[in-house]
Amino acid sequence: MTVAPPEPVMERGPDNPSVDLLELPLEGLESLVAELGERPYRALQIFRWLHLRGVRRIDEMTDISRPLRARLASLAHIGGLKLSDVLEDADGTRKMLLDSVDGHSVEAVLIPMEVGTTLCLSTQVGCNMGCEFCLTGRLRKQRNLTLGEIVDQVAHGRRIAGDESGRPEPGNIVFMGMGEPLDNYEAVVAALRLLQHSHGASLSSRRITVSTAGLVPAIDRLAAEPDLVVNLAVSLNATTNEQRERLMPVTRAYPLEALLAALRRFPVPQRRRMTIEYVLLAGVNDSPADARRLVRLLHGLRAKVNLLPFNPWPGSRFARPPDARVAEFQESLQERGVTATVRQSRGRGVGAACGQLGEIPREKPE
Ligand code: SF4
Repeated sequence: MTVAPPEPVMERGPDNPSVDLLELPLEGLESLVAELGERPYRALQIFRWLHLRGVRRIDEMTDISRPLRARLASLAHIGGLKLSDVLEDADGTRKMLLDSVDGHSVEAVLIPMEVGTTLCLSTQVGCNMGCEFCLTGRLRKQRNLTLGEIVDQVAHGRRIAGDESGRPEPGNIVFMGMGEPLDNYEAVVAALRLLQHSHGASLSSRRITVSTAGLVPAIDRLAAEPDLVVNLAVSLNATTNEQRERLMPVTRAYPLEALLAALRRFPVPQRRRMTIEYVLLAGVNDSPADARRLVRLLHGLRAKVNLLPFNPWPGSRFARPPDARVAEFQESLQERGVTATVRQSRGRGVGAACGQLGEIPREKPE
């Protein structure tokens, strides 16, 4: 038996014209096979290999003729991110370090949950939103990730988490890693369509959440996307414009009134709620008055609140509130009829918790 040599996925350079098949929606694959003089159903076969079975090598597409596989391999490859390391925290959270072809480091996090693994994926290298409590915001945006790079994080996550559990993993995907997803709108929406495609991974929209810092026009645009259901999470973190402007500069462009109006317009599917993320910063936004104002702001909105006690990172000027303060804040919301959960921080030991992405520990933990 001869073993095919590995395809040179990462050896190509930025000028290499090789096409990443993960960049192509089904229509793109149809054009590609048409150019090769092949029948349209070949595109669907390739699509299934890529997104249902998650193959990494064109040679593994065994129901496609060898000559076609050879021609495909001469002009295309699968995946633009190379897994360089996996850092595992004591709590089982794993941070995947992925290298792009042009030398950027992309991080995605696999979080073990009771019901399976959640993948927190990135949409940009760095981020331009500049949220004060977030390490990624310090990095400024280097570039958007491409559709293929977003989908490739899912493929890497499937290989790592799915192989172990035997279940289709990751079970849930949250667009909450590095970057503002709605600042990379086209690629993110294309990725959502790919992940939900009935011939691909066919992930239920219930299991995919997109988080935004509050780009109002993009929220409205997402709401109007035909045939796309999305769970929306909004990183709110403040209860007055003055406070939010200090924490999240995006508020200057889109103040709370405009943001909340957009959230009220957003179509939340039956029996679902939107998620309001609220990072609790000691002495900044964790007072009883903040809790009361938050309840007023959310009045009439089908939403639940996810409280995230701040995860410190070196050089940050914020502190994590004591547990008792977090519990008080949560109770205050619940007493007033707002569902509020406290998200347990996962992956802090490897810089994989919320707001910590972008910091790569030099050594693996013991
Ligand atoms: Fe960007 Fe999100 Fe960090 Fe804000 S919290 S800087 S939007 S990655």
